[in-house]
Amino acid sequence: MRVHHLNCISTCPAGGRLMDGRADCILCRGRLTCHCILVESNDGLILVDTGLGARDVASPRSRLSWFFLSLLSPDFRLEMTAAHQVRTLGFDPGQVRHILLTHLDFDHAGGLDDFPNAMVHLTAPEREHAEAQRTWLDRQRFRPQQWSGAARWRTYQADGGDRWFGFDCVRPVEIAGLEVALVPLLGHTLGHAGVAIRARGRWLLQAGDAYFHRDEMDPDHPSCTPGLRFYQWMMEKDGRARLENQQRLRALRRSHGSEIDIVCGHDPVEFERLASRPADSPTPPSTGATATTR
Ligand SMILES: [Zn+2]
Repeated sequence: MRVHHLNCISTCPAGGRLMDGRADCILCRGRLTCHCILVESNDGLILVDTGLGARDVASPRSRLSWFFLSLLSPDFRLEMTAAHQVRTLGFDPGQVRHILLTHLDFDHAGGLDDFPNAMVHLTAPEREHAEAQRTWLDRQRFRPQQWSGAARWRTYQADGGDRWFGFDCVRPVEIAGLEVALVPLLGHTLGHAGVAIRARGRWLLQAGDAYFHRDEMDPDHPSCTPGLRFYQWMMEKDGRARLENQQRLRALRRSHGSEIDIVCGHDPVEFERLASRPADSPTPPSTGATATTR
């Protein structure tokens, strides 16, 4: 089994250093990843989140809201889309059989249309709340224009389920030869979930937008840039649950950090650690030596 880390189009938020902590100044733009994970399995290719997709690159104004286009100014490069990087690795996008979504925000769901043969797995509350479009901000963040293949969605209830390292209501996803599960981590959205994958005897938890900055997972001295703290507050649907889940993730890292890699969607330093290349470089062709296999 091979695991590839793909940054599927960086966003470039206003606020620069106040957001990503490493831009030169606060007047320039920051750089954040859309960290997707591609797994080669016995049941075809599995993709965790899709970032922004080819149709977003071709026609951003018809797909995305002016609010987020202005705020985040995505670096629309076709070679960074998941579909393009899948091709670079020697596959056809039609070979992606399953997509697991942490949530339906535009920067996670934009590539769905590029994978016509994939079954899309997500929690039922996420689908329900995204489709309800109840608030102005919901209509900016959840973009039905990106969901033409919604008939192929398989949803999972957020109650019942299994336990996983102390987390409740975890939903195993049936994929041959692969241990993979949706781990409810609500707060950022009402059906937000992490995706846990067991690869080579080790767990990888893509925690999506449960946190945004690596230092938030510091068990002893958690911290976050002021810009990302504000952004998370602005986007949260349940602030108390979001902070509780961050606390649980810190505890998980403290107790099981040697067995589980925990990553979020948008931290470029976490991405570069796992991908072993700069966040703004697409994956190189797969030669065996370059693929990340952690
Ligand atoms: Zn996001």
